[in-house]
Amino acid sequence: MNDDFTRVLYTQDAIDERLAQIAAEIDRDYRDKDLLLVGVLTGAVMVMADLSRALTSHCQMDWMAISSYGAGTKSSGVVRILKDLNTDIAGRDVLVVEDIIDTGLTLSYLLSNLESRNPASLNIMTMFRKPEAVENRVDVRYVGYDIPNEFVVGYGLDYGERYRNLKGLATLAPHIYS
Ligand code: IMP
Repeated sequence: MNDDFTRVLYTQDAIDERLAQIAAEIDRDYRDKDLLLVGVLTGAVMVMADLSRALTSHCQMDWMAISSYGAGTKSSGVVRILKDLNTDIAGRDVLVVEDIIDTGLTLSYLLSNLESRNPASLNIMTMFRKPEAVENRVDVRYVGYDIPNEFVVGYGLDYGERYRNLKGLATLAPHIYS
């Protein structure tokens, strides 16, 4: 698999270090709250697992699956719920846990959908964020790392359902997708 990458942007150690800082902030911000973490399948599996275990306070977890990119590298803008939450989030303090925000299209759909269910609060944590999301002023409470506008894989992120199990985050060599 190593020949498939041009460079490693973040190792698992760097990710863990940043997650420990974010978890401390979340512990503080949600003290005395009944926190519900909502993960977006499948990409957020790794960040959900690592973030939740870095927290020292109680939390619950639930999952949604939505379609965004399909098998390519560009956002289609078409978002569909493939699996909904098991939890009624009315009156709950919800923190959406995302792997990456690129254009923010997926997230803005998700936010308006969740907002309509009347949670007590609704915030976003993302492990990685690309520049377009910053330009579009997507309102994210916790950001792991701002990354360049390149297609990346690993730490839950895939290309054609591969590379999710890479421990760090890497850029994919152009010969793989061209
Ligand atoms: P957005 O709607 O453009 O913000 O895209 C969000 C979703 O696209 C993420 O949850 C990922 O599933 C996927 N995505 C965006 N950028 C990348 C990337 O560089 N590698 C792999 N998946 C990505």
